[in-house]
Amino acid sequence: MTRGICILGATGSIGKSTLDVLSRHSDVFRVVALTGNHRVAEMLALCTIHQPEQVVMAAPEAAQQLRVLLRDAGLKQINVESGPEALAAVARMDGVDEVMAAIVGAAGLLPTLAAVEAGKKVYLANKECLVMAGKLFMDRVRACQVTLLPIDSEHNAVFQCFADGRGVRRILLTASGGPFRTWPLERLAGVTPDQACAHPNWVMGRKISVDSATMMNKGLEVIEAHWLFNLPAEQIDVLIHPQSIIHSMVEYVDGSVLAQLGNPDMRTPIAHALAYPERIESGVSSLDLAKTADLQFETPDLQRFPCLALAFSALKAGGAAATVLNAANEVAVQAFLDEALPFARIAAVVENTLTDLQPAAPDELDAVLAIDQQARVIAGKHLRRYAESALA
Ligand code: NAD
Ligand code: MG
Repeated sequence: MTRGICILGATGSIGKSTLDVLSRHSDVFRVVALTGNHRVAEMLALCTIHQPEQVVMAAPEAAQQLRVLLRDAGLKQINVESGPEALAAVARMDGVDEVMAAIVGAAGLLPTLAAVEAGKKVYLANKECLVMAGKLFMDRVRACQVTLLPIDSEHNAVFQCFADGRGVRRILLTASGGPFRTWPLERLAGVTPDQACAHPNWVMGRKISVDSATMMNKGLEVIEAHWLFNLPAEQIDVLIHPQSIIHSMVEYVDGSVLAQLGNPDMRTPIAHALAYPERIESGVSSLDLAKTADLQFETPDLQRFPCLALAFSALKAGGAAATVLNAANEVAVQAFLDEALPFARIAAVVENTLTDLQPAAPDELDAVLAIDQQARVIAGKHLRRYAESALA
């Protein structure tokens, strides 16, 4: 019997890498449902190849356009829905055994939780849902006794080296340092969205690419690791490794350090999680270490990467600081991508929002969503302040 898969965020970078791996193993996996936001042409292409039963486009007008295109392409048997309710429903759908959670940002939280609550096996790429609602999310994972496997390359690497966690002294999350690691600090003010999205080693969506350039991505990953591996901030270190060959490491009390290595290609962690505890082909070529030769490491410079420091302090502060951090960062990154905020001001918007809003730890989902909304409003206020000061 084949295993039915739903991909939340199928039109994105992780979604497409997942479909690439799945198509190599169609004897094992069946693509049942795909979701996207508004990229209709890309979803049509995916439907033509993978022929899912169900598609959800978050944007209603995109769903309407897709229905017409599917009918014209002779694929009218594919049902198309739209909106947030439909996104959650598709994650719970009968015939779906496993869900790849690869929507970017806070929009991924509710459908991913829906998958957990429906008892589906979940592959987690959407780190933002653990950052904004870590305790609540992990409590549900445990209560529903679902299998949650990490897709983020660092967490997948740690998972591969972690065994049962006995004797772990610390984990070391590696980070490439992004495209601006060696730029003079004064040049960062004039960075463009395209420059920030040109990651040296990975091809990713635009939001995570900007997060990688500020190193907020690594900060979000520290918080993600805290929840996935149940470790305090003091046992999570970040190490810059510009070649992105070592995907992360686990150090044990006896001094042993285990690392997972490979070419930087998300199909490796995706294939690892899909097949776990077996191994399957991913399409990724062999690692040629002789050709790579040089593996460098350095400590991150927190002056250059203030977002990393903000994420560590949000984790240590507890309460709802990580929820606020995540929301403010999403607002600031979108403003930067829209050319309404300079790259070097992203950290300030996040920091100011964290100063203004310090709610207690949310004990239920509605409280998380309310804090997320409040933080977006306050971050928006800081954006307007910036815009006014820039005009003055
Ligand atoms: P992407 O921008 O390429 O794709 C995002 C997907 O989410 C698209 O399918 C898009 O249609 C969908 N989406 C966006 N906004 C939505 C909304 N409001 N409602 C419903 N769907 C929406 O992003 P990506 O690079 O594939 O990253 C996806 C997630 O995986 C992120 O959380 C990212 O942090 C994580 N991740 C990505 C990588 C990578 O290499 N790309 C690595 C590790 C983790
Ligand atoms: Mg990562």
